[in-house]
Amino acid sequence: MGKVYLVGAGPGAPDLLTLRAAEILKRAEFVFHDALVHPQTLALAARARKILVGKRSGRHSTVQSFINKRLVDAAGKHAVVVRLKGGDPMLFGRAQEEIDALRKAGIEFEIVPGVTAATAASAELGVSLTRRGLARHVVFVTPRAGRGERENDWAAGVLTADTAVIYMGAELAEEIGAELIARGKPKATPLVLVESATLPERRVLYGTLAELPALALGAGGGPAVVLLGEVLRAARAEPVLTEKIEAIIKRA
Ligand code: SAH
Repeated sequence: MGKVYLVGAGPGAPDLLTLRAAEILKRAEFVFHDALVHPQTLALAARARKILVGKRSGRHSTVQSFINKRLVDAAGKHAVVVRLKGGDPMLFGRAQEEIDALRKAGIEFEIVPGVTAATAASAELGVSLTRRGLARHVVFVTPRAGRGERENDWAAGVLTADTAVIYMGAELAEEIGAELIARGKPKATPLVLVESATLPERRVLYGTLAELPALALGAGGGPAVVLLGEVLRAARAEPVLTEKIEAIIKRA
């Protein structure tokens, strides 16, 4: 019996991978990966057979139960099987379903954390998600419910949190803005949309909650997180920040 590793590939840039993840990828015989994983990260798994199993939010992807089954089957034949996921595997990655299936089948597994989109975006903005005296809680939330999934009150978390990071929300910008404003979140709440964080094609769009739908129109279709809360005022105060980051990256 083999072992299955649920590995976080990080937010995009291939060098934002843990050493542990790199070492496991080198030994991997099978890699089941998400669509967002960088080709250079996949290339580390030089010996492995690589299989794309999804997953761009809302678009066609392999059915989860089928992925679970393939992981179990692969572990029956191979020593090192990797399920490589964007960001951190334990956030919005359906990891629990895979863990449950592996447990049920009696297969050994290990989770390797990765840098999640929220902290990658925060780093790029140069804005801490928490701040003394201003922000003591952060919520990671998605308004997107899968087909057949129970609806839940995602907005409640955003309304109470000092800082919110919304995953898989750019395509639902209208609904998100309308819902939060209708429920009393101030229209002027500072907001930033960060698309393709850590990648050369990234875009950073500054605005307010009321401007979210307009900002989303300016996004280019890459993966994007929406950050909102008072801490983001610091990002807005310095409009040259994006250029500065650009210059730093060029120098490095
Ligand atoms: N497990 C992942 C999240 C998977 S859900 C993580 O921890 O980051 C996919 C969503 O993550 C995207 O719709 C987007 O909201 C966010 N995301 C992933 N990569 C991103 C990136 N490079 N920049 C901005 N958002 C990103």
